[in-house]
Amino acid sequence: MRFLLSCGALAAFAASMAAQTAPRQVATIVAGGTVVTVDGARNIYSPGAVAIDGTTIVAVGPAADIAARFKAAEQIDTVGSIVIPGLINTHGHAPMVLYRGLADDLRLQEWLEKYIFPAEAKTVSREMVRAGTRLAALEMIQSGTTAYADMYYFEEEIARATKAAGMRGVLGQTIIQFPVADAKTPQEGLARNEAFIKEFAKDDLIVPAVAPHSPYTLDAKDLLASRALATKYGVPVLIHVAETETELGASKKAHAGMSPVAYLQSIGFWGPRTVIKHGVWVDAADIKLLRSHEVSVSHNPESNMKLASGIAPVPEYLAAGVTVGLGTDGAASNNDLDMFEAMRFAALLHKVKTGDPRAVPAKTALEMATIQGARTLGLESAIGSLEAGKRADLVVVSTASARLTPIYDPVSHLVYAAHGGDVRTVMVNGRVLMRDRKMLTLDEPAVLAEARKFADLVRAAVGR
Ligand SMILES: [Zn+2]
Repeated sequence: MRFLLSCGALAAFAASMAAQTAPRQVATIVAGGTVVTVDGARNIYSPGAVAIDGTTIVAVGPAADIAARFKAAEQIDTVGSIVIPGLINTHGHAPMVLYRGLADDLRLQEWLEKYIFPAEAKTVSREMVRAGTRLAALEMIQSGTTAYADMYYFEEEIARATKAAGMRGVLGQTIIQFPVADAKTPQEGLARNEAFIKEFAKDDLIVPAVAPHSPYTLDAKDLLASRALATKYGVPVLIHVAETETELGASKKAHAGMSPVAYLQSIGFWGPRTVIKHGVWVDAADIKLLRSHEVSVSHNPESNMKLASGIAPVPEYLAAGVTVGLGTDGAASNNDLDMFEAMRFAALLHKVKTGDPRAVPAKTALEMATIQGARTLGLESAIGSLEAGKRADLVVVSTASARLTPIYDPVSHLVYAAHGGDVRTVMVNGRVLMRDRKMLTLDEPAVLAEARKFADLVRAAVGR
């Protein structure tokens, strides 16, 4: 009996050794470069590797460990590069890339009323939204963004173009008081939004959301109807809140001295999975309210700087435990969708405001563009870091340029020196969307040509 047992134990031991030594077959191994995981322990492996099977990361670690444990049909060599989680843009209006540079250096109200609203009134269509989203997706993929949040019109077209490009999106149909291209009334907008949610409810790449434009472009009834729709389907709410001082003043005047955040509290708007865009003009009481409702904030430093909207109190949000992600906002107020710039501006802007160079360090800026961006959008269990079990959304950043040589700290380079143009290869859900700068999911010349065509319509619309 004793002999049999030990014999059995020996066999089990031998089997387990064999299991350990025989490398497991996976689809892809990304290996050789420095892997900045942004995982719970903030592990960095150099040289590191990521093993991917199907849509999922199966292991991340030192390159030698991964080579011993896995073999792959496809190897992506990342020697001389930094591998990071795909960047997450928590706020944008993708098709507005077609209005990039149309009007600059104007106050928000003048910019909106003289240029953007007239251009939109005359040019937003299904075709325009499709062309704009393709252009935006091209720019985002080329600069390392793998997931983005969007608020615009004909959002179903944006979702289709996003899926076709292979990107991930948290997309909300805009609900707004005045007549717009896809809805004459907020009620029509809500009905379109509901149909949109149903169409994409089970999608692997698209998370449908509700996007009431703002507390100043919707009345209480329609704000609450937007919230009710989100609650009915358990989807996120995306809304612009407290972007400018003008908005703050108007809110106080219209709502018995209440800030936009306090006003939304007073009507019972706040609820789960809510992301406010900008959140610049908030006080300590507002921050406390947002924290108590677990509302996340999308911080858009470049748009806020360009429109002179102000500086969001990001250190205060973080100290209070509010989740903050980074965004670009639409390209018309940025003027690009490069999340490397968003990281750099976020890191620099708060140092200037606080007079403290320790404010928003590089590590925090990178987290806001990755894991905190994922948390902002409620996707932290699936994306935002490179770790086993998460979706394979990753970006390979070349460090071959003079600008990125030498390297002492990869996180410092990612935030303070890298550009979107340094991105070489991009993968979403285990699928390579761009390899060595070659687009695999979008026909780049066709996308650019189509965008140029729309510029003629836009010029005619604003008389330029
Ligand atoms: Zn916006």
